Amino acid sequence: MNKFQILVVEDDAPVRNLITTTLKAHDYRFITAACGEEAITLAATHNPDIILLDLGLPDIDGVEVIRRIRSWSIVPIIVISARSEDTDKIDALDQGADDYLTKPFSVEELLARLRATQRRLIIVQNSQLSQAHYENGALTIDFAGGCAFLSGVELHMTPTEYKLLCLLAQNTGKVLTHKYILENVWGSNLQSDVASLRVFMTMLRKKLEPTPESPSYIQTHIGVGYRMLKVE
Ligand code: CA
Repeated sequence: MNKFQILVVEDDAPVRNLITTTLKAHDYRFITAACGEEAITLAATHNPDIILLDLGLPDIDGVEVIRRIRSWSIVPIIVISARSEDTDKIDALDQGADDYLTKPFSVEELLARLRATQRRLIIVQNSQLSQAHYENGALTIDFAGGCAFLSGVELHMTPTEYKLLCLLAQNTGKVLTHKYILENVWGSNLQSDVASLRVFMTMLRKKLEPTPESPSYIQTHIGVGYRMLKVE
């Protein structure tokens, strides 16, 4: 039995059945919700490993569901929606969705996205097991609590900024290429996403570095990537 539990949020019964039948055939455990409020409750009470989320829900919009779950959880959220406009995708991703699949979707693609998300989860879980707590200069990260502190003051980060910080911290001293970071934080391998990575890095540095123009934690390797330095 696959140990991953998926929360399927979909009000359209035939689509929900297609997804759950697929999950069942591949030994995933799953729970289902047919509206947004139920999804938020189940996410809190059942602590699923991955959420598959439709956006057009009968009570509250899926984007609002993402926003509310993201206020306390970094669980991966894969949107499955008929909305195919770039603005809809950007809106969902900005609120903290990890991936976006447009309806009609292929079952094979859904399974591939799930596997990719699982691989990232396993990497994160393994590194959390080997190291529950990270300290570097004035920076500390409590992986179990999902929070980070600078000189004892909690850093207020978006889920993406936090994932980015954890990835760099877990690889302190190593240069991580743009490609590696995009794959591990966004699940993307598009060179065009390097621009958004830069934006996130600027935001993260503003929070982390006392003087962002001469960073002491995150070093830029122009054209290559970034490295978390060991700070004394
Ligand atoms: Ca719907």
